[in-house]
Amino acid sequence: MPTKSKILDGKKSSESIISDVEQEIISLLNDDMNPPKLGVVLVGNNPASESYVRNKIRACKKAGIEHILIKLDETISENELLIEIDKLNKSDIDGFIVQLPLPSHIDMQNIINSIDPSKDVDGFHPINFGKTALGLPSMKPATPYGILKLIKMNKIETKGKHVVVVGRSNIVGKPLSIMLGNDFSIGRATVTSCDINTPKNLLLSELKRADIIIIAVGRPGFLTGDMVKEGVIVIDVGINKVDGKIIGDVEFDSVYEKCSLITPVPGGVGPMTISALVINTLNSWKSKYKIKTKRYEKGNL
Ligand code: NAP
Repeated sequence: MPTKSKILDGKKSSESIISDVEQEIISLLNDDMNPPKLGVVLVGNNPASESYVRNKIRACKKAGIEHILIKLDETISENELLIEIDKLNKSDIDGFIVQLPLPSHIDMQNIINSIDPSKDVDGFHPINFGKTALGLPSMKPATPYGILKLIKMNKIETKGKHVVVVGRSNIVGKPLSIMLGNDFSIGRATVTSCDINTPKNLLLSELKRADIIIIAVGRPGFLTGDMVKEGVIVIDVGINKVDGKIIGDVEFDSVYEKCSLITPVPGGVGPMTISALVINTLNSWKSKYKIKTKRYEKGNL
C-alpha cells in the first residue's frame, strides 16, 4: 500500500487555497460591495462536464463566491451561444467559464475569442495566454496555474531541473511548458515539450532522464514505471473514465515504485484547477474594486 509521503495531495492544497480565498473575501467585503460572482455556461448534458461544473460550483460556495449556472441546449447554434456570451461580457459578473468540450458544430476557439479577457477566469483567451507567457498580470490558464501552485505549496524546486511535459494542448501542455520555462521563482526549468509527433525513442529517452514529468495526453495509463528514472516527480493531469472508474495518464502502481512524489487521480491536479479558477475569480473581483493583486512574474502565485 502506498505510504502518504509520496503523494502530492491536490485536494488538501486546494482546500487550503479555498479557505484562504474565503478569509480574504470576508476581510475585504463591505456594505458598498457585492460579493464575487462566477458565471458557468454549460452546453448539453455531458455527464463529465456536469460533474466538473458541480465541483466548481461547490468550491465557489465554500469560498464565498456566488454563481449563476446557465444551462443551454446541446442544439444551440454558435451564434446563439455568442449572444449569451455577449450578455455575460456586459453583465456585472466578475468572471465566467464556458465548460468544454462544446458540441462539434460549435467552433471552440471562436467562443474562447469572444469572452472578455477580463472575465475569462479559465484563462483561455489569447490575450491572457500571451500576457501569462510574458509574465504580465492576467488571468492565468487554470490547469497550468493550479499545477504551479501545487509545485510551490509543496516546495518542489524547478530551477535548473529537467521537466518533460507530455501533451501540447492550448489549455494545458503549451502554457504549462512556457510558464515552467519562465524566469520566475516557479520556473527556470529546462523544459522539453512532447506531443504525438515526438518519436517514441526520443520521448522515452527524455522521460528517462526527466526530474519532473507532467503528463496531459488523455491516454489511460500511458506512463509506466519502466519509462521513468528513480526519484522522479510525476504530475498526472489526465482524467480518463475506464470501466466506470476515473484514472489518470499514469499507470499509478508501477510509477509509484520509482517516483519520489506523484499526484493521484482523482485528488491531484483536478482540485488544483478548480482552486485556480477560484483565485482568478477573486482577482477579477478585486480588480473591479481596485484592490491590489499580487503579480505573477515575481513568483507570487
Ligand atoms: P488534448 O487537447 O486532447 O491534448 C492532448 C495532447 O496530448 C496533444 O498535444 C496530443 O498531441 C498529445 N498526445 C496525445 N497522444 C500522445 C502520445 N501518444 N504521445 C505524446 N503526446 C500525445 O487534451 P488536454 O485538454 O490537454 O487534456 C489532456 C488530459 O488532461 C485529458 O485526459 C483531460 O481530460 C485532462 N485534463 C485534466 C484537467 C484537470 O483539471 N485535471 C484539466 C484539463 C484536462 P497532438 O495534439 O499532436 O495530437
